[in-house]
Amino acid sequence: MESGGSIFNAMLQEFDGAARLLGLDQGIWKVLTHPKRQIAVSCPIQMDNGEIEVFTGYRVQYNITLGPAKGGIRYHPNVTLDEVTALAAWMTWKCAVAHVPFGGGKGGIIVDPNRLSRRELEALTRRYIAEIVDAIGPEKDVPAPDVNTNDQIMAWVMDTYSMHVGHTATAVVTGKPIEMGGSLGRREATGRGVMIVTREAAKHLGFDIKGATVAVQGFGNVGSVSADLLAKIGAKIVAVTDWKGGVYNEKGLDIAKMIDYAKQHKTIEGFSGGEPIDNAKLFALDVDVLVPAALENQITGQNAGSIKARVIAEGANGPTTPDAHQILHDRGIFVIPDILANAGGVTTSYFEWVQDRHGLFWEESEVNHRLETKMVEAFHDVLETSIRYKTDLRTAAYIVAISRVATVTKMRGMYA
Ligand code: NAD
Repeated sequence: MESGGSIFNAMLQEFDGAARLLGLDQGIWKVLTHPKRQIAVSCPIQMDNGEIEVFTGYRVQYNITLGPAKGGIRYHPNVTLDEVTALAAWMTWKCAVAHVPFGGGKGGIIVDPNRLSRRELEALTRRYIAEIVDAIGPEKDVPAPDVNTNDQIMAWVMDTYSMHVGHTATAVVTGKPIEMGGSLGRREATGRGVMIVTREAAKHLGFDIKGATVAVQGFGNVGSVSADLLAKIGAKIVAVTDWKGGVYNEKGLDIAKMIDYAKQHKTIEGFSGGEPIDNAKLFALDVDVLVPAALENQITGQNAGSIKARVIAEGANGPTTPDAHQILHDRGIFVIPDILANAGGVTTSYFEWVQDRHGLFWEESEVNHRLETKMVEAFHDVLETSIRYKTDLRTAAYIVAISRVATVTKMRGMYA
């Protein structure tokens, strides 16, 4: 990572570039580059062996100008306050690009959850939520799953919060099981959003998505759904990799079969529909579309020069390093940035929150229809901004986000 290792400073670099182009007011600039609230808590837990351990947790509400803070909770040994703050800032910009009435937040606990029993994991989750209970709520801050957290953990979050406030409050968290107020379509939403913006990019660039070739890195939630839905609109998925291996077939892979295979084997390695391929070869394929949907920092100064794709749709968060961003820009590759390309997830989280607050649940077709409308609108807002400011889509996405948050900050004024 650049910028002295600070992820927050890397976020600021992206912010500053866009704010300069936008001619952002200096005072508002200061407001938008400071987190509103950073909470650090100690969570003592009695472990199964009878000993007490204390885990550190964070919740950052970066900005709540447009609405309640929104963002996931991450369980990972490398969580830092710097990282959580950067992720909370990115959520602020993502929600603003997606045009949903949320601010940005993020949480994390420094823990390797694989070393905890289910009982310890539940105890840690409940203690962490109890420690931040006054700061969260449907009107204040709405957590969601992130790395190493899932719908079961969100169920414990919802229950703990509800016990503290004395009534069932489903809208305090999104990414819940469907049975307790989760939304239909949420699981597929991020991949669906990737498909929609890729289809719009093809239209804009003048190539037919039917028959277009696609390579996908990562075959988890985002990668597999993106591949499946792109295949369903006629694209040809020629290569996929995951943590263990990859498969290439120039005639196209059978994604439905690959999903079944991955469910059974926990990897796509060994799938019979093609020949093996690794990430380096996948990135260098002569394809129309590349979808990085695995981890951050995958497209770097080292491999950006070898990429031949016309379009990169960033399903993952932060898959492109700042130096790679410059190389891709100079080479004229059309990069749909993460805060736009993977915003389908948070958009449908917004729909989940709306449904919980209304107590009225939509058909899946309605969720998908509304997502389609929101993603198409977001894509075109960013595209038009990039044309107006003669800049790349990443900077344009920041410009859209910053100007939305800045406008409302000015309207609301400085409370003193
Ligand atoms: P996931 O855990 O379901 O899947 C991750 C996939 O990446 C797995 O298939 C894994 O095998 C693969 N992978 C790991 N290391 C790899 C490597 N070195 N090379 C190739 N593949 C590798 O996670 P996910 O929910 O699909 O999230 C993927 C990315 O998308 C993350 O950056 C996440 O932050 C981002 N994202 C997810 C959502 C969502 O709704 N799930 C929303 C927005 C952004």
